[in-house]
Amino acid sequence: PEGVGLMLHNFEEIYRRSFPPCMQHLVSFQRNGTHLKNLGRTQLRPLLREAGLPLAEAMTWWRRELLRDIKVTQEVFDREHSYHIQHAYGRNGKRKPAYGWSCWKTLGFPMPQASEAHGCPFRALPTEQLEDLLRCFGSGPVSRTKEDSPPDVAQEQVACGLIFQERHPGSDFEAIRHPMQMARSKMEKDGE
Ligand code: SF4
Repeated sequence: PEGVGLMLHNFEEIYRRSFPPCMQHLVSFQRNGTHLKNLGRTQLRPLLREAGLPLAEAMTWWRRELLRDIKVTQEVFDREHSYHIQHAYGRNGKRKPAYGWSCWKTLGFPMPQASEAHGCPFRALPTEQLEDLLRCFGSGPVSRTKEDSPPDVAQEQVACGLIFQERHPGSDFEAIRHPMQMARSKMEKDGE
């Protein structure tokens, strides 16, 4: 519904309460002082667009976040990053907006190296770091498995569904299939 999408003014609240762990990891990784490498940026850009962040606000948000890294100057941002942000909104190239990858596709990414944050944290992070991430956003340790999980999903998607249920009691997700499933559901519920 209109008026409940992601905007700069509600970004922090939605980021903390409704982003799925993969998006929280990408944003917090960059904020913790490590430059988000290409695959991580490519993963996050369309998800923010799909969550509703308007292009002008996306430019402002990405500029602010990327310029935390002293190597990214305003000139570097204008030369390299603004094109890719506009591209995610279909404003250049083939003029088609980009869509976030499904959980299944995200789970298939190469494992991130030490200075990378792409992929699904339920698979990509060691247990201790995953628990730190979840705790940082208010969740306790979670089992990565569930006995009656659907046959067509990975255990990471089931674990993510359990986190969603823990954060949003009464929800009926068995497993998360797309990061937007989690973010949108909560935003739409808030907008009812
Ligand atoms: Fe993101 Fe999907 Fe992994 Fe959840 S299961 S953290 S939504 S990629």
